[in-house]
Amino acid sequence: MTISPPIEKSDQTPRIMAVDDDQVILDLLKNFLSGFGYEYSVAHDGQEAIQLLQKERFDVVLTDMVMPRLDGMELLQHIRENYPRTDVIVVTGHPANFTFTSVIKAGAIDFITKPFNRDELEAKLDRVLRERQIIHQLEQMSMKDSLTGLFNRRNFDQRIWEETRRAHRQGYDAFLALIDIDNFKNFNDTRGHQAGDELLRTIGDIMEQCIRKNVDCSFRYGGDEFAIILPQITVQQAIEIGNRLMDRFSLLHHEGIGLSIGLAKFNHNEQHSFENDVADLIGRADKALYAAKNKGRGQLVVAADQ
Ligand code: GH3
Ligand code: MG
Repeated sequence: MTISPPIEKSDQTPRIMAVDDDQVILDLLKNFLSGFGYEYSVAHDGQEAIQLLQKERFDVVLTDMVMPRLDGMELLQHIRENYPRTDVIVVTGHPANFTFTSVIKAGAIDFITKPFNRDELEAKLDRVLRERQIIHQLEQMSMKDSLTGLFNRRNFDQRIWEETRRAHRQGYDAFLALIDIDNFKNFNDTRGHQAGDELLRTIGDIMEQCIRKNVDCSFRYGGDEFAIILPQITVQQAIEIGNRLMDRFSLLHHEGIGLSIGLAKFNHNEQHSFENDVADLIGRADKALYAAKNKGRGQLVVAADQ
């Protein structure tokens, strides 16, 4: 049986912005929002709302439609274009001019007409925030390997691009380590698949302990293969992390198995596309890994730069 890691919950208190040019409505919204326990800010028109959005993250914006300077429809469009992770609920006293259909089509998540009551506002906000939480959980699940809790191959394919592009833009070195368990098939055959699963989980934990927190990122690449992206690092430091990983693994005292590691540095070749450079990086790390296997396993091989 596979036990999935717990789903990560978004740990941030929901932040709401209320936008209205009528101070009485704003005071009412403030009163309700603080009663619901949310963090909130207020703005008196669309322009003030945009200034607040530049400074802080908001989960939901509750906006009036008819306002001076920048109205609710313009604010809604601005949020849709610039803040895709912020939801907008339109609160209007002009339901004939701004129909439910028109504001939903324009990208609002819901619609409230004035006068509104506390229960309606609470129910609508609660639904939007619950849906956001589910989306967040699904995003987390789609990025993680359910056995080890490490990021998965799909996430690797995206991150390797981001990290190599950033390394190139900011002018620092980045390395890729591919790690494969030696003779893991034999371990599974003799100790059982469940023990094999447990070992994969343990390696996930060891990897997390050996890499630099918030700098390196470890992945389950597939089967018994793992990957680490190591940005802003020298070859010597990358080798040290690899050696630490092999040392920690050997402390498990599993006879006959070890780790082989292939390490390669990212190179940008002006003559090639970036796609080619990333494929070249993975190819060289893979070749180095197989060289480590051919040399007798349980060792780290650094790929030639080209
Ligand atoms: P080598 O030293 O050449 O890497 O030998 P190996 O036996 O480790 O290599 P091979 O790639 O032939 O075998 C990998 C094994 O990993 C085969 C497969 O049964 C096992 N494996 C892949 N995914 C899982 C998994 O999720 N759980 C378990 N228990 N085993 C897995
Ligand atoms: Mg293997």
